[in-house]
Parts: sequence; C-alpha cells; structure tokens
Amino acid sequence: TVSLRIEQLRAAVEGKEILKGLSLTVNGGEIHVVMGPNGTGKSTLASALMGHPKYEVTEGMVTLNGEDLLEMEVDERARAGLFLAMQYPSEITGVTNSDFMRSAINAKREEGQEISFIKFVRMMESSMQTLEMNPEFMHRYLNEGFSGGEKKRNEILQMMMLEPSMVILDEIDSGLDIDALRIVAEGVNALRSADRGFLIITHYQRLLNYIKPDFVHVMMQGTIVKSGGPELAERLEADGYEWIKEELGITE
Ligand code: ADP
Ligand code: MG
Ligand code: MG
Repeated sequence: TVSLRIEQLRAAVEGKEILKGLSLTVNGGEIHVVMGPNGTGKSTLASALMGHPKYEVTEGMVTLNGEDLLEMEVDERARAGLFLAMQYPSEITGVTNSDFMRSAINAKREEGQEISFIKFVRMMESSMQTLEMNPEFMHRYLNEGFSGGEKKRNEILQMMMLEPSMVILDEIDSGLDIDALRIVAEGVNALRSADRGFLIITHYQRLLNYIKPDFVHVMMQGTIVKSGGPELAERLEADGYEWIKEELGITE
C-alpha cells in the first residue's frame, strides 16, 4: 500500500542542521499540506526526500511504500514512485521538454518496454491540453525562458505524465495568477486517488481554496509543531503564525 513515512528526520545543509527531528506520515488517498514561515526548512524537507546531494540526512528514517527511501539513489526514488515539483525548477538548455518527458517516462519502465513515440506524443498533447498549455512548449528547451507560472504548469504536466504514487509539491502556487492556480489545482485534483498521496508545501492559504487537504501541518524551526485539519490553515490565514509561537513559547 502507498505510504510515505518520515520519522525523526534530521538533515543539514553545509554543516548547518535545518531539519530537527521531523515526523510525518502520508498515506495513499491523503493530501497533507505543510505550511510555515520562510526559512523554516520546507524546501529542505523536499530536497532531502528527493535525495539532493547538498542535503545531508544525519538521523531518522524514511520509507516509501515500505521501502527504505534514504538508501535509494535519486533515480531509484523516482522509479519507486516519488515525484517532486521543485520551488525553483532548473533550466536545461539543449534538452527539449518532450525529450525530457520521454526519457523520464522510459526511465521508469523496464528495458524493451519503452513508450512508443506515437503514444507518447498523444499523451503529452492531451495532458498539455488539460493544463491549457500552448503546444509549442513541447519543443521548447526545458524551462528555458519559461515564466514562473509556465514552469509551475510544466511541473504539473510532468506529474500528470509520470503517474507517481507519492507527490511532493513545493510552493507550486507561488508566482501563479488566479487562472493558472485554478488549472494547477485541477491537475492535482484530477490525480487524487486512493493509491496516491500528496505532500503539498505552501506559504499561502489561497491554494487551499482549490485543493481540499485532509491534514494541515505547521512547520517551524525544522520540525512540525502543530497538526490539524483545513481549519488550521484558515486560522493561519486570519491570524498568521504569532499565536502558535506564543502557544509553544517560541521566541525569535
Ligand atoms: P523554506 O523553504 O521553509 O523557506 P528552506 O528549506 O529553503 O526554507 O531553507 C531553510 C534554511 O536552510 C534557510 O536558512 C536557508 O538559508 C538554508 N538553506 C537551504 N538550502 C540551502 C543551501 N543549498 N545552501 C545553504 N543554505 C541553505
Ligand atoms: Mg521559502
Ligand atoms: Mg521553500
């Protein structure tokens, strides 16, 4: 069964500990939202889970669908069903969006089972249509010259085409205008299923007008300090984070 279990995770960047014993479990069928002020380690969490070499896991355990995630190489994590949409997707000159997508899909398949070109093109075209993307984006170099919103939409395109079992979206809503936000949210909602889990990292409550989470977590100083339902996000929108700091006696 689908699950991402994070237990007492500690991770450091350039020798500085950022994640300080973070625990969180996402099961298939669930949408979890992690919110928190800037600089609390939300993106670090996403990068550590994806296996970014700069983020050193020093303690704790993570399993994906029962398997030790931290033991896996980056490409193995993707093959095991993990998908990460990054806050700042990188540009790759010389690789077109469609080349990249086809390699990514084939990397998840057994040798000899590669997707046929025709099938791939149809799949990409229809997914792009759903996301209201201009067909020219098939042939553009990956993320090169894409606007912030176009990059985000392209991340969602990748998510739709790769059919992951566990999806991590890091600030997929930042830099989106209201129409793009709605389209991105529809992409997520269309992929909601009992055998897929979502960990959605966001700074803003507005995404939750379109995506209804099952659980909301507040992250501060490298750990989850409070969990609840959608009402928690509403309270954050209305009152900010100060009341949580007061509740927990955090001074900074
Ligand atoms: P958030 O996503 O919650 O805004 P980040 O995870 O991006 O927070 O950053 C948490 C802390 O880790 C910050 O102090 C940030 O400067 C530091 N950090 C993150 N990534 C790096 C990096 N690659 N090099 C140096 N410091 C980093
Ligand atoms: Mg940030
Ligand atoms: Mg971030």
